[in-house]
Amino acid sequence: MARILVTNNEGTPGVGTAARMLAAGSGGLDAIEAGIRLVEADTTIRSVGRGGWPNLLGEVELDAAMIDGNSFRSGAVGALKGYLHPISVARAVMERLPHEMLVGEGAARFANEIGAETADNLIPDSERVWRQWFEETLSPAERARWPDVDLTALCQQAIDPEKGMDTTVFLSLDAQSEIMAGVSTSGWAWKYPGRLGDSPIIGAGCYADTRYGAAACTGTGEMAIRAGTSRAIVLYMKMGLSLAAAVDEAIDDLRRLRGGLIQRLTLHAIDCDGDHRVVTVNAEGQPSYWLWREGDEAPRAEPAEVVAL
Ligand code: ASP
Repeated sequence: MARILVTNNEGTPGVGTAARMLAAGSGGLDAIEAGIRLVEADTTIRSVGRGGWPNLLGEVELDAAMIDGNSFRSGAVGALKGYLHPISVARAVMERLPHEMLVGEGAARFANEIGAETADNLIPDSERVWRQWFEETLSPAERARWPDVDLTALCQQAIDPEKGMDTTVFLSLDAQSEIMAGVSTSGWAWKYPGRLGDSPIIGAGCYADTRYGAAACTGTGEMAIRAGTSRAIVLYMKMGLSLAAAVDEAIDDLRRLRGGLIQRLTLHAIDCDGDHRVVTVNAEGQPSYWLWREGDEAPRAEPAEVVAL
């Protein structure tokens, strides 16, 4: 099968490295981890790793996951604070623990135990924008009581400074014809502390099955959690649908969602023949993604399909 790598636009700092590794015969998990580490360390990517926007309390909480499409072993971390590479901590969960997901203090404890690199992920620009929001949004009385205020109300009015959230997602079919997926994100800006998006939830934010394909989502994680979007796409392929029809079916599931947060969601999918499809629902502007296929000199940017919900 022809090797393939699909990442979203946020994958820019790492897609070249991951593609070169796949071209040289590396396994998908190694290529994906190396690519995502570069995204996590790049402070110009404001929705992943260091430089990601903070939660309502001004703290950066990171989520990441990997899944091995052969063994279905997965590793995920949620609401991890103070570490530079959540994707590597997620991989260590997969490879070193009898568990699949760790969150919060437990995830940080494990990261420390394995010697993961620490980092102050709140860069000065994020702190400045968060503080400005804090000064403009909270009354003097609330500021005096901080952080003993009603975050439920604040969470409803929270404004994402980029009007967008974007995880980085990497999907690969490697030289061994094995299919893998990995994702990493800081989630929503100004999210409720402890909020997990779809990224660390296997089956929502990503899924992989070497027999059929893989999928991953970016955007409004709440939608992908409710519809189990990544698992659904792979399962629809298992049930005999083509890649294109499987993605259409998952979009149809999203159309059934009522209430809650309904905004932009991008579905990325590859199959075991090396085909791919990337579709954004409720797009603001024209989203793009990166595609590398065996034989390509370098990854190239492609426009995502845009579909109305
Ligand atoms: N899906 C991520 C989340 O909901 C964020 C994003 O991709 O924009 O946390």
